[in-house]
Amino acid sequence: MSDANADSLFCKILAGDIPADIVYESETVLAFRDINPQAPTHVLVIPRKHISTINDVGVDDHVIVGGLYGAAREIAVTEGIAADGYRTVMNCNAAAGQTVFHIHLHVLGGRALAWPPG
Ligand SMILES: [Zn+2]
Repeated sequence: MSDANADSLFCKILAGDIPADIVYESETVLAFRDINPQAPTHVLVIPRKHISTINDVGVDDHVIVGGLYGAAREIAVTEGIAADGYRTVMNCNAAAGQTVFHIHLHVLGGRALAWPPG
C-alpha cells in the first residue's frame, strides 16, 4: 500500500509479513489479538492507513478513526463482552504508553477494569 511505513510493525502485519491472530477485517480496518493481553479479551483495532499517532490524525482521517470504533463495537459483540462492558483506549506518544507508532484502539474486556487507569 502506498501509505505504508517501512518501520511500522503494524504495517508489516497489514502486509502479511508478520502473522497475527486476526479477529476482524474490513476495507479500512484490521483487528487482531494483542500478543501480551492485559485482559481476557484484548484486541487491537488499527486503520489500514499508516497514521503514527493521534497527533497525526488529519481532518480527512476522521471517517477512518470513526471506523475503528465501529469495528470495536462489532468485536465486543462477537467476543461476548458488549453487555457486561469493555474499554476502548488509544494512547498517544511515550508518556501515555504508546509503543507502536501506528495508531491502534485497544479493546479490553472480560474482567472488571479499574478507573482511573494507571
Ligand atoms: Zn504503520
